[in-house]
Amino acid sequence: MTVSFGVDIGGTKISAAYIVDEDVVVSDKRPYRRESLVDDIAGLYFELSKDKAPVEQIGICCAGLIDPLNGIVKFAGNLDLQNFPMAEQVREKTGVPVHLDNDARSALWGEFTFAKGSLGENLAGLILGTGVGGGLIIGGSLISGKNGFAGELGHLPVSNSNLKCACGMTGCLESVAGGRAFETNFHRKHGLEMSGQEIADLARAGDSRATEAFSELGLAVGEVIGQLDTAFDLDTVVIGGGFGSTFELWIDQAHKAYSAALVGAASRTKANILLGSLGQNAQILGAATLR
Ligand SMILES: [Zn+2]
Repeated sequence: MTVSFGVDIGGTKISAAYIVDEDVVVSDKRPYRRESLVDDIAGLYFELSKDKAPVEQIGICCAGLIDPLNGIVKFAGNLDLQNFPMAEQVREKTGVPVHLDNDARSALWGEFTFAKGSLGENLAGLILGTGVGGGLIIGGSLISGKNGFAGELGHLPVSNSNLKCACGMTGCLESVAGGRAFETNFHRKHGLEMSGQEIADLARAGDSRATEAFSELGLAVGEVIGQLDTAFDLDTVVIGGGFGSTFELWIDQAHKAYSAALVGAASRTKANILLGSLGQNAQILGAATLR
């Protein structure tokens, strides 16, 4: 029996789960204060693990540039953290070893682990939320790279954008497919201030402005998938994140752009592109099981 505890730090709330083997025994989600983030995580840990078998590891994930080897948040704009030793601080409060990682990498790892081999050994993850996170699993291993930053797939360039991205570069996938950028672009083009989900509802109702916006998103996602498959010869591409729920509105366009950007498309088996099955739990389950 393996007992772990997963924590996902969002922009305003922390979500956590006490997990035995691969089952969530109990979970909760609550707001936190930035000044007391570590105490709030520890408080939730003590509450959910009370009178239960001892936890072997706490896995924490958040958006941003994370150094997983040293457990340091190098830079997380939405949490206002820089060079913050999160793993050490939470370990001091709880007495339990802590692994810290990026949320999108954790989400991909969660989907991979809980699929028990059915997704293959070579995967890319594109996690569509406020921005676009990513991750790569090659030969069954999550690729970390020299700094632990590998898998920032949302900042690969796409040919249908010359827009400025939040990262400072121009034409990134995130500048088309990130939820915040998608809303900004729609507002700029059509004068309508709507959330991504509202624009999705408009597209489902047949509005041509909204369907065109999702078509652009699909072309951008597909182009990046083509590049990734060309580079890594993938089994599966997992789409996740809250904005990933718009999948059915753009997947056909994504397949078109994917084939066009894939070398030798006619002579190979293409990767499966699918929506993750764990939803918002993916990153908590992944964070809890990453070592
Ligand atoms: Zn970018």
